[in-house]
Amino acid sequence: MLQHLDAPAVARELAPDEPVILNRPHAAARAAQFFATKFPGKSLYAVKANPSPDLIQILWDNGITHYDVASIAEVRMVRATLPQATLCFMHPVKTASAIREAYFQHGVRTFSLDTIEEVEKIVAATTDANGERARDLRLCVRLRVSSEYSELSLASKFGVDLVDAGKLLQSTRQVADWLGVCFHVGSQAMTPFAYVQALERARAAIADAGVVIDMIDVGGGFPSSYPGMEPPPLEDYFAIIHRHFEAMPIAYNAELWCEPGRALSAEYNSLIVKVEKRRGDELFINDGAYGALYDAAHVAWRFPVRHIARDMDNDNAAIDAADLEAFSFYGPTCDDADFMEGPFMLPPGIKAGDWIEVGMLGAYGAAMKTAFNGFGGAEVVVVSDEPMASLYTGERKDPRVSDNVVSLR
Ligand SMILES: *Cc1c(COP(=O)(O)O)cnc(C)c1O
Repeated sequence: MLQHLDAPAVARELAPDEPVILNRPHAAARAAQFFATKFPGKSLYAVKANPSPDLIQILWDNGITHYDVASIAEVRMVRATLPQATLCFMHPVKTASAIREAYFQHGVRTFSLDTIEEVEKIVAATTDANGERARDLRLCVRLRVSSEYSELSLASKFGVDLVDAGKLLQSTRQVADWLGVCFHVGSQAMTPFAYVQALERARAAIADAGVVIDMIDVGGGFPSSYPGMEPPPLEDYFAIIHRHFEAMPIAYNAELWCEPGRALSAEYNSLIVKVEKRRGDELFINDGAYGALYDAAHVAWRFPVRHIARDMDNDNAAIDAADLEAFSFYGPTCDDADFMEGPFMLPPGIKAGDWIEVGMLGAYGAAMKTAFNGFGGAEVVVVSDEPMASLYTGERKDPRVSDNVVSLR
């Protein structure tokens, strides 16, 4: 793969008419090492955040041994990339054929569930041709918890209610060799307190069930850094989770797991888009609601941006943050909904033909691209500069100072 210094170097070299995805292997490696060494338990990578085989290989090379997969296609892809990895099928609603293939062909033993029907389905699908029931199932009961501290809710779709959790844990214990409790506090949890509240629910469910619990999985939700969303250090999350985990009524050798998607992948990608047209403070660019900027359009997520002038003489013109202006974006498709409100702070002189680097798109960015309306193609290159923000460089920013302004060197 082509190697470049940074986005301006790529724009200069390729003058791209199509979006270009920039990979930062060093940033993904640093995130993996951080979780592998600092989280006080096992870190699973939630593959849906960014299913790139290159990224998955980097995470493996840097200490991530377990992968949270949610579909049979993810199971096959991770298994093909990493023959030695431990795969955990953490979607609570699976088809019987997916369970069977995962168990018998790909060595998957860990499955999550939130109903007794799913327990029965898993048992039936993992029973062999001689009618012999699987003796090595590792089952995780997904609890419904609140998403009130997170930017994106995951509270309404999955998870057994607290009132029914005790009974489900008891039934699952009967067929499981190893029993866990899992939950998801919602994505981009802006305070560690989200996990405290969820662990309190898990404690209540476990006390109610009165069964031995071998594992607590605190799920994903670990934040990354975006304009207007500067989270506390991840060490604070880890310390609080560990303290509450230690006080749980569980087996003395019980394991602690987490399933970060966003936090392990956000810094891996940025994207170069081209400005095709300017209309006042609206820029028509070549990626949007059906591309890597899905979240910018659908949940008004703000990503950091950096201007790359086509006229390279302007490239080094230092523009004060105070001189930047607020822009919104239209994506390339013919759909009115292909609109991103921002605000995206860019120099007043930006014009058609220029490029913009959009940062922090490794999580739920590159993964979201579709071919709708004939758009969606993108070249992929490797760059060696730093991501526009990082939670892993040890430089903690003052959370009161947050804007999507990135200096132009
Ligand atoms: C999406 C998801 C994750 C990852 O969530 P992030 O907020 O990206 O960390 C982890 N576990 C499950 C079950 C998920 O559905």
